Amino acid sequence: MDKIKMTTPLVEMDGDEMTRIIWKQIKDIVILPFVDLKTEYFDLGLVNRNATDDQVTIDSANRTKELGVAVKCATITPNAQRMEEYDLKQMWKSPNGTIRAILDGTVFRSPIMVKGIDPLVSTWKKPITIARHAYGDVYRDSEMKIDGAAKVELLVTYPDGSTKKQEIFNFKDSGVVLGMHNTDKSISAFARSCFTYALDTKQSLWFATKDTISKTYDHRFKDIFAEIFENEFKDKFEAAGIEYFYTLIDDAVARIMKCEGGILWACKNYDGDVMSDMLASANGSLAMMTSVLVSPDGKYEYEAAHGTVTRHYYKYLKGEATSTNPMATLFAWTGALRKRAQLDGLADLEAFADKLEKVSIETIEEGTITGDLKNLIDIPVKNVVNTEDFLKAVASKL
Ligand code: NAP
Ligand code: MG
Repeated sequence: MDKIKMTTPLVEMDGDEMTRIIWKQIKDIVILPFVDLKTEYFDLGLVNRNATDDQVTIDSANRTKELGVAVKCATITPNAQRMEEYDLKQMWKSPNGTIRAILDGTVFRSPIMVKGIDPLVSTWKKPITIARHAYGDVYRDSEMKIDGAAKVELLVTYPDGSTKKQEIFNFKDSGVVLGMHNTDKSISAFARSCFTYALDTKQSLWFATKDTISKTYDHRFKDIFAEIFENEFKDKFEAAGIEYFYTLIDDAVARIMKCEGGILWACKNYDGDVMSDMLASANGSLAMMTSVLVSPDGKYEYEAAHGTVTRHYYKYLKGEATSTNPMATLFAWTGALRKRAQLDGLADLEAFADKLEKVSIETIEEGTITGDLKNLIDIPVKNVVNTEDFLKAVASKL
């Protein structure tokens, strides 16, 4: 059999622990036998990040800007314990944070839905994708305790020395105060990533803020989205048969509970933090959540939403059998291959990505599953297997 050809390489970002093991198994078992895989390999495993003073992370992100599509394995974000475990020179920053800063992108998360694992919200028939704005607001705020009677004001100083002042509150007694910000640049990049991804996936886009209460701050988000939609995306949305829908955040939440899914929901930073955890838990398993970073100029980095599954890795090192779910990492690969295929006009590669997703879902629906799904899935026959055997079952269907 001739292998499926690629023209442009993917940026391949390898990672850590259990997901690093799964990474190789996925390539060996379900991709390499069928695809003449082309990648530019960057080892983002913590050992190599430490050896290169994290330059490898920066290089991989810059290469993604040039080539357009990356696939990333989960990576360790170092903490004090990891400093010791890996004898690190420095507590290197989160690779995802570094890559996101370079690509200026937005993260989109959606569940892989299979029959037998029904969302807790019975009306959801199709996946709901959440996009979280990852800059500013309460995550970059400045807070203060007020100890007694005090007048608190906002003070703005312009480069020419002129100032603007506005009262926040005249305290009669103790309390708290906070100041937060966002930038037009960051909000615009967020909006463009969302409109681009909606078009890409042919899903309508919902966006919500509390602009009736926050008449300047939240209203700015609403205005920037409306302006960019009107000037750059309206015609494309019409042609694609999708819509942009703006509403208030409380109304959006109420409607989400009654919708059938298949939409893209753009959330401000805090709303996205809260709602993405709600969505993940309503869909059952972190191991079935996919994630893609999309830059405002249409560069893509696909990954799983979960981490390196450390607990399973320590068992694996002791020689114990593990049954880690490879689905989200597998879908990172299919997402990247499909996007590469679309950009390069490779119909057979796109068909392969679709087929690989389809047969891996079928494998689960027919009862061959990893341990994490055992108590989640409602099907008559359950054959719990390890990661490798799960992938072999998928490959046999290809
Ligand atoms: P995690 O790796 O997502 O795992 C948390 C738990 O969720 C696991 O112990 C396991 O539960 C379950 N789980 C997650 N993925 C699974 C899968 N594919 N199959 C089966 N079960 C799965 O989170 P963590 O343990 O908090 O973090 C581990 C490391 O990952 C940390 O060093 C962190 O920095 C890193 N991390 C990286 C990323 C990223 O690169 N994007 C994201 C998050 C965390 P049971 O133990 O109950 O089986
Ligand atoms: Mg959260």
